[in-house]
Amino acid sequence: MERDLFREELDLLFPHIVEDLENGEFIVSNRKPFNDRAGYVASKINQLTGIANVIYVASEAGIDASSRYVTVCEAHHLMIASTSIPNARIDMKDASQWCAECQKIRHDAEYLKEVATRRWQ
Ligand SMILES: [Zn+2]
Repeated sequence: MERDLFREELDLLFPHIVEDLENGEFIVSNRKPFNDRAGYVASKINQLTGIANVIYVASEAGIDASSRYVTVCEAHHLMIASTSIPNARIDMKDASQWCAECQKIRHDAEYLKEVATRRWQ
């Protein structure tokens, strides 16, 4: 029952997130291609926003950055610079570590989950 309540609240706040009930993971329903953009290296759907986090070669993408690569949260247009692709891939996997808006979404989702659990105990 607590699971259904959480699901309803989550749907209200983040309608783009759908829950895969079989394995308990969150999957995202809408996908957007970024791989035709200049400087594109890799992308991964950000589960907090439903929109991709994308690694670019900064200079080729026309981005003024302190390092060769940038990882962009395409949902919020915030980015972080990286000196190597392996480091950029770590940033790509979890935007809540560097995108303030994603951090808020994650915090809200964790709070809702906590409240939903508490209510049914
Ligand atoms: Zn973000």
